[in-house]
Amino acid sequence: MTQTLQTDWRPVIKDLEAAIGKDSVIRRKEELLVYECDGLTSYRQRPAVVVLPRTTEQVAAAVKVCDRYQVPFVARGAGTGLSGGALPVEDCVLIVTARMQQILELDLENQRIVVQPGVINNWVTQAVSGAGFYYAPDPSSQSVCSVGGNVAENSGGVHCLKYGVTTNHVLGLKVVLPNGEIMDIGGKVQEMPGYDLTGIFVGSEGTLGIATEITLRILKAPESIQVLLADFTSVEAAGSTVSDIIGGGIIPAGMEMMDNFSINAVEDVVATNCYPRDATAILLIEIDGLEAEVAAMSDRIKAICRQNGARDVATAVDPEERLRLWKGRKAAFAAMGKLSPDYYVQDGVIPRTQLPYVLREIEALGEKHGYRVANVFHAGDGNLHPLILYNNAVPGQLAKVEELGGDILKLCVKVGGSISGEHGIGADKRCYMPDMFSAADLETMQWVRQTFNPKGLANPTKIFPTPRTCGEAASAQVNPKFASIERF
Ligand SMILES: Cc1cc2nc3c(=O)[nH]c(=O)nc-3n(C[C@H](O)[C@H](O)[C@H](O)COP(=O)(O)OP(=O)(O)OC[C@H]3O[C@@H](n4cnc5c(N)ncnc54)[C@H](O)[C@@H]3O)c2cc1C
Repeated sequence: MTQTLQTDWRPVIKDLEAAIGKDSVIRRKEELLVYECDGLTSYRQRPAVVVLPRTTEQVAAAVKVCDRYQVPFVARGAGTGLSGGALPVEDCVLIVTARMQQILELDLENQRIVVQPGVINNWVTQAVSGAGFYYAPDPSSQSVCSVGGNVAENSGGVHCLKYGVTTNHVLGLKVVLPNGEIMDIGGKVQEMPGYDLTGIFVGSEGTLGIATEITLRILKAPESIQVLLADFTSVEAAGSTVSDIIGGGIIPAGMEMMDNFSINAVEDVVATNCYPRDATAILLIEIDGLEAEVAAMSDRIKAICRQNGARDVATAVDPEERLRLWKGRKAAFAAMGKLSPDYYVQDGVIPRTQLPYVLREIEALGEKHGYRVANVFHAGDGNLHPLILYNNAVPGQLAKVEELGGDILKLCVKVGGSISGEHGIGADKRCYMPDMFSAADLETMQWVRQTFNPKGLANPTKIFPTPRTCGEAASAQVNPKFASIERF
């Protein structure tokens, strides 16, 4: 299929300006530069136009213009995504939700809040914490990423081990479909009859439309919280501890692992002065609940850590100490900048019991390819984040690092895991979809996309491999009948 790229943008821009106002349309090349990538900076493409709507109606008006001229559009929240989901496609309109930052409704009695998609994740907790509530999904990027982006990526975070990822906290959505129609899906209560369209939309990475209002579930803050830091001299021992804690029937609120490499990078940059620099691995374990329950869990976890050979288990009880422990973990990606000009982060998932084996294999793969790999991840969920350090200025390094990342993903699939835990597939991992899914699985997903997005205008080229993006071999499993919506 030949590409149908829009060459004369004047009528499109005129209509966009008429639809949402001149001051909401960005066209100057130097201003567009900011939008040419997301957190996966190795992929870049300048959009033709950026629009900054304020309301659902303005989003719908902008999408209708795209539909009228058959130009693709890509939604963007804060642009912190790590899989190239908000990466513009050639000659597209980028619809940015950064001005949609209102909290529309707060219903504490029924534990829900309605927000616009550009609201930043931790503003939700800030809005309700005074009344003793919080919003559980807490990606490490929570001080900058948007709720709309979280919905599209089905984001996770430290507290998702016990409380579930974004999809478990989204009750309903107002959505602008790719033809500009506005649709309400889900509702204000958890149990809705019929197909679970909210479940389908959450995690759809902007390929089914744009969420413009989001109803979230908020939780009552626990009575008591403790954070434990367990210090190990072997990765195997830390990995076995994770399995033993969960196998023992304890579900901590969060359980994160950092290897020696990450510990030292974090201490160099953030100086928590809490992480033992000579530890081979540490576990950060948060437990919450009623005071007596937390005390009992804490004792059992400490015993399990010691049985597995932990050198020490420290406890942070007061909020300041807890924050200090988490500050290092949350800054871990950024700290890699101290060690290397660039890093490439992967996001595979494995069964928890495979942690020691997979971490050893990752180390061996790093050695084989000649790159350093730091590991910092959601250990309780088996959600790995190997950070591969490289220098993008050196020609050829990026391709090699992507190959290493691909080998790590294939390893995750081999042990019964997945190619993404929370960062999405986007542009980065689409070529690995056939490693995980059969032709029939991929076809079913394509039918879903086609139902919402029949012309393929919403975030084309993402999630699924095509001959153009991944070559004939990788896309062989994708049914050619969907080629018409892969034309961009
Ligand atoms: C340092 C760092 C740490 C991170 N830690 C975590 C972590 O712990 N857990 C985690 O899950 N992620 C993490 N991320 C990844 C990222 O922050 C999340 O994926 C986040 O949800 C993206 O939100 P965003 O607003 O930046 O979305 P964007 O990057 O702007 O967009 C992401 C995707 O959402 C789509 N989209 C955006 N808004 C909408 C909308 N309103 N409707 C429909 N589609 C939309 C886009 O098209 C794109 O496909 C981290 C990123 C960084 C840089």
